Amino acid sequence: MYARSSDTAWVEFTFVSGHPALDLAATLTWRSSYPVELLAGPRDLSAWIEQAGLADVAGRVGDADVERTRELREAVYRTASADLLEQRPRAGDLRLISRTAAGEQVTPVLEGLGRAVWRGTVDQVLATVAHQACVLLGGPDHRRIRACADSQCTRLFVDHSRSGSRRWCDKLTCGGRANAAAYRRRRSQRGPGPGSVALPPG
Ligand SMILES: [Zn+2]
Repeated sequence: MYARSSDTAWVEFTFVSGHPALDLAATLTWRSSYPVELLAGPRDLSAWIEQAGLADVAGRVGDADVERTRELREAVYRTASADLLEQRPRAGDLRLISRTAAGEQVTPVLEGLGRAVWRGTVDQVLATVAHQACVLLGGPDHRRIRACADSQCTRLFVDHSRSGSRRWCDKLTCGGRANAAAYRRRRSQRGPGPGSVALPPG
């Protein structure tokens, strides 16, 4: 059973995956422990598209749009994590991503120098995301896909670091928590610090 975020409140989405398809995959959080559905309804989907900078959405966003977005999201997540789990990607997922990518994508309107507006329906946004998913998953960068080293966080990201050793989806949240935990461990192993030494009376 998934917890659901509210479709009536503004959700601040996170974009730390280094790729729009993996950022979409991250809209279902904490997948292995306490999943939270961030795309609970049409308002959330509109907000995600806007915050992702993918397009100004044309037309009304409905429940069916949310459903199709979640289907693409789950196909992307399963395919992107197949390597990490040493599994083969599902043929149905590959077909869904390819079929979605074949649709018409969002289109730019050039309004001046340094000024372009991207417009499209939800289907056009999904086609754009699926197209980029094909480039990532079907190209050499699929080897750079990692799962966050935090065992509870199930975010995937593309490791663009030169060393290829990035561990955290976000060094401020998951990385920060790990650093704080390591610091506490080191402190407890060292025993009480000088600040806690009881001074003799007088
Ligand atoms: Zn993480």
